[in-house]
Amino acid sequence: MREKQTIDSLVEKIKTYSPESDLDIVRLAFNFADDAHRGQFRKSKEPYITHPLAAAHILADMRIDPVIITATLLHDVPEDTHITLQEIEDNFGSEIRKMVEGITKLGKLKYRGVERYIENLRKMFIAMAEDIRVMIIKFADRIHNLQTLDSLPPQKRYRIALESLEIYAPIANRLGIAEMKGQLEDLAFRYVYPKEYERVKKLMEEKLRGKEKSLQKIQEVSKMELANANIKIIDLKGRNKRLYSFYKKLLRKENDADKVYDVIAIRVIVPTIADCYATLGILHKIWKPLKGRIKDYISQPKPNGYQSLHTTVFDEHGELVEFQIRTHDMHEEAEYGVAAHWHYDERGSRLPAKEIQWVKELAEIQKDILNKMSDLEEIKVDFLQSRIFVFTPKGDVIDLPEYATPVDFAYHIHTDIGNRCNGARINEKIASLDTPLQNGDVVEIIVDKNRKGPNPDWIDFTKTHTARDHIKSQNKKTRLTGWLKSVLPKK
Ligand code: MN
Repeated sequence: MREKQTIDSLVEKIKTYSPESDLDIVRLAFNFADDAHRGQFRKSKEPYITHPLAAAHILADMRIDPVIITATLLHDVPEDTHITLQEIEDNFGSEIRKMVEGITKLGKLKYRGVERYIENLRKMFIAMAEDIRVMIIKFADRIHNLQTLDSLPPQKRYRIALESLEIYAPIANRLGIAEMKGQLEDLAFRYVYPKEYERVKKLMEEKLRGKEKSLQKIQEVSKMELANANIKIIDLKGRNKRLYSFYKKLLRKENDADKVYDVIAIRVIVPTIADCYATLGILHKIWKPLKGRIKDYISQPKPNGYQSLHTTVFDEHGELVEFQIRTHDMHEEAEYGVAAHWHYDERGSRLPAKEIQWVKELAEIQKDILNKMSDLEEIKVDFLQSRIFVFTPKGDVIDLPEYATPVDFAYHIHTDIGNRCNGARINEKIASLDTPLQNGDVVEIIVDKNRKGPNPDWIDFTKTHTARDHIKSQNKKTRLTGWLKSVLPKK
């Protein structure tokens, strides 16, 4: 049974990582919300205030900025009580008001089915573009709702869990907030795929059974050898893969658990990038690496910005162990992504705020297309799937969805280049226009100036909304002119 959460324990938690911030305002926000929600109860029959308080605790456990926690305590006040946003501003200032307003706007959704999906996405994109902190609160809100899902009727349980898996978790992932993405997925997993959840849970237990001792040994040996090489270790410990991410990996590996090498991984955090590579070398001297499993995500980050060195080695019993090596800043980025700026690390410091370009792009794009139902699939493909980074011959980085092709690349550069594109070189080799691009590819488009427009067949393999839109509209035009020519009298 979990310990009862109180405002006192919340304030104590925050003090451990941010002792100098104004905690009176956190207490005031709690009292204000407590008064406002008085007489309201959750489906579980608990007083309503337990919900915003629990969401605030989730963020305090993650060592998040107390200003966000203050807004979290107030997040349901304007929607569920007679208190207005103006009153919140009068009491807590305009910054808190804006965050609470953002959450309130996300609030109740009017529609059902696919329309609800679109409405939800649209609202979240707008909220994100305005203030990313609103999403941090929304994720905490959703995590607590998932934790208390059992008190809702089964139909509702499924809908909320599915929405969490399909909308919330992918967005948290795109924002790089691995910690929240992981919690959302694992909580929702049980309700969306109950049988798979049980199966994967057992499989995970089997994988972990009896491993403690050898893992302990590997950690000790690593620490000793790194110390001998004068590499300072900021942190070195084992971490278990999350259940849902284990499940998804199993699906990719034909359900063969033996092919999943990172169920347990040892995470090594060292001060500099040079230390990361030195650490890799030292580990490979002790244990033989598995061929083809050394991944340098430092020089080639994953599409969401993730950086680390990964390697899988054979331990002394011939068992495979994965190592993940990174600097402290890379670790902060990996776990908290855009939220890293509002996360206090062990030293009480935070990373600088980052511009997130794609969020702005999204806000623009949603304006003219999210209203169209048929485009939903394309939006999902464009922005919720994994992204790849490819390069122009001049070295400019282009951000595209996974499996994008040279045609998508061409349209991304310029409409004319797309329309006149006649071939492509990938890494200096001639390649067909439907070749799926890989992270890090250098792509050059061969243009035919006399070409009139896109080939209608391109629609079969293009992945981006921009490319597909142009191909469709160009073809409409050509079809129209063709039709006109056929009906007009010949000269
Ligand atoms: Mn709420």
